[in-house]
Amino acid sequence: MKKVLQDLNFEELSALVSRHGEKSFRAKQLFEGLMQGKAISKIPVSAALKTALLEEYEDEPVKILETYVSKDGTKKFLFLLADGNIVEGVLMSYEYGNTQCVSTQVGCRMGCKFCASTLNGRIRDLTAGEILGQILAVNRAEGGTLKERKVTNVVLMGSGEPFDNYDNVVKFLRLVTAEGGIRISARNISLSTCGLVPEMRKFALENIPLNLTVSLHAVTDTERRRTMPIANRYTIAEILDACGFYFEQTGRRYIFEYSLIAGENADEAHALALAALLKGRPCHVNLIRLNEVKERDLRGTSDKDAYRFLGVLEKQGISATLRRSMGSDIGGACGQLRAKFLSGNNE
Ligand code: SAH
Repeated sequence: MKKVLQDLNFEELSALVSRHGEKSFRAKQLFEGLMQGKAISKIPVSAALKTALLEEYEDEPVKILETYVSKDGTKKFLFLLADGNIVEGVLMSYEYGNTQCVSTQVGCRMGCKFCASTLNGRIRDLTAGEILGQILAVNRAEGGTLKERKVTNVVLMGSGEPFDNYDNVVKFLRLVTAEGGIRISARNISLSTCGLVPEMRKFALENIPLNLTVSLHAVTDTERRRTMPIANRYTIAEILDACGFYFEQTGRRYIFEYSLIAGENADEAHALALAALLKGRPCHVNLIRLNEVKERDLRGTSDKDAYRFLGVLEKQGISATLRRSMGSDIGGACGQLRAKFLSGNNE
């Protein structure tokens, strides 16, 4: 695979352009073209520069391979990477804008029992430019520009564990928020982690004040270990400490994801225990009914049980919302669409 030009920030791109003996305004043209989601071959720079770049860099490292549109307006995308790997993403529209869910790795090695992305383990990390490229491609396909963006919010909740690809993800965050680029503000970005404590602490010092989201899904370490292997490495207490440190450093409250799994973590006793765990902390809880994954035997709760769980949290003074599950008619949970596509069953 050739290199990814979108990995470079403006300073790095300028240095490259000047090494090729080109004037500095060329760097600006090139950067703008890339941020508009264009292939190198479609950007109006000199033929000599284009030829030189294309020897070393992929013309279009992230291409939209398929688009599926749900009845509720949610769109799912399959992206083709230069080495033939495929990752998926989703665009959801809300009143305040459009949120794109991006992938950070091909596959995942965290092994959560309810998640489709991890079924075949981790294949490779995405580069910063490949993560960014998913957003640039969708913004362009949706008719957006750098001024009138069609992607206004980003969640790192596609396939992959962002903190298992720390350096590339941090570089991506600097690129996506950068001046002259697509400029999505950190407060409109949510990064979801299964709870890699050392990276959470390191990230608190990066000065990127985004919405740090932790996949909790259980109220005790013993129960968490049943569905999340990472719970053998870090305890809930260590996670809560790292969240506290994030808040201290950034002033941003943090969010917990809690997927309601029937017979596993969704009883009233679990709701009370969750409330006790989180009471007084500057946090929010996002509840979602588990999206059923064909290959797994875990089931989501009923709507009624989900609302009951929410009611208990609210009564205990915990800030919480029950998220609608969007786009379930086009391949529900994370990793499902790619898995379906790879198995040739994507009608
Ligand atoms: N690796 C990161 C981000 C990717 S998953 C993490 O673990 O947070 C994004 C969110 O979707 C996580 O909260 C994850 O636990 C959740 N998730 C995965 N599979 C799911 C499913 N089948 N139903 C509901 N939520 C799921």
